[in-house]
Amino acid sequence: MHTFDFVRAANAGQAVSEAQAAINAQTASNHTDTATNTATAPATVRYVAGGTTLIDLMKLDVETPSRVIDINQLPFNQVESLPDGGLKIGALVRNSDLANHPVVLRDYPVLSLALKSGASAQLRNMATTGGNLLQRTRCMYFRDTAMACNKRSPGSGCAAIGGANRNLAILGTSDHCIATNPSDMNIALTALEATIVIRGASDATSSREVSIADFFLLPGNTPERETVLHPGDLITHVILRKPQSGERATYLKLRDRASYEFALASAAVIVTVQNGTIQSARVAMGGVGTRPWRAIEAERVLQGAPATAATFNAAAEAALAGARAQSQNGFKVVLAKRCLVHALTTVTA
Ligand code: SF4
Repeated sequence: MHTFDFVRAANAGQAVSEAQAAINAQTASNHTDTATNTATAPATVRYVAGGTTLIDLMKLDVETPSRVIDINQLPFNQVESLPDGGLKIGALVRNSDLANHPVVLRDYPVLSLALKSGASAQLRNMATTGGNLLQRTRCMYFRDTAMACNKRSPGSGCAAIGGANRNLAILGTSDHCIATNPSDMNIALTALEATIVIRGASDATSSREVSIADFFLLPGNTPERETVLHPGDLITHVILRKPQSGERATYLKLRDRASYEFALASAAVIVTVQNGTIQSARVAMGGVGTRPWRAIEAERVLQGAPATAATFNAAAEAALAGARAQSQNGFKVVLAKRCLVHALTTVTA
């Protein structure tokens, strides 16, 4: 493991100032961090909360920050109801606490189901909302510094294309990277159209809000850039809007074993149905996309259509129409369609 500074921040202002100071020092010594974002490896600065991803990657030399800033003392561990009926979730709220929060269980069950399907109970007790948003891919080559990986080492190639790619993406891929976003929580937050609140390192006094639809980037030619975060940016909260009256929701996750496993395919579905007709539908899919995958084409098919098997099959076909399978993951095209059809059948029953 590489040596690094360890700083414990007492407040958000100190956290981002410490981050900016480390970035400035590295920039002065010709490091190029300012040209990329914080989801890039190697990054100069990392914030640590639960540490369930970062510490593993530091042990593997995939992450080699020169400064690690502990943000566990920051006041972002609350779930608060908002006056407009929405919900404000602190970035440090643990996955277990969020999944079992009474308002989440009542108003956002898709989020609770997704969180409970992720990792193990021990990991959910440590993992935080902010960290889960920035969870790194489980592509095996990304975690092995002896292998070519454009995401870890830009320009080195992609060992997964033509290699072991059974678990990797079929939607949103490029010729440079086919890694999946591994998070279950991110799929539910995408269907919920969450907003992410960010404190910038370059302007420590103000925050900006980014819709989750704009937060994650496609790999394209720059798979090392995973989000719109700038170096040193700090996620402080996630905001969910008030649920629509009569909403029904579910999260279905298909995987190789029943627990402690990543999705091969998953579907987060939120619908309203009246007299057998689907009034509104929001659909996101996991395990198949290079980013949490909003299935807009499926939503178009569902909107205003009868809640029947024919509609669900048509929606699934639309959702996967752009799929591009690799040598080992063609089965995901069929699996993802079945996953979505089953989720829609369950939620409208
Ligand atoms: Fe790296 Fe992406 Fe290729 Fe995996 S799929 S080896 S993460 S570039």
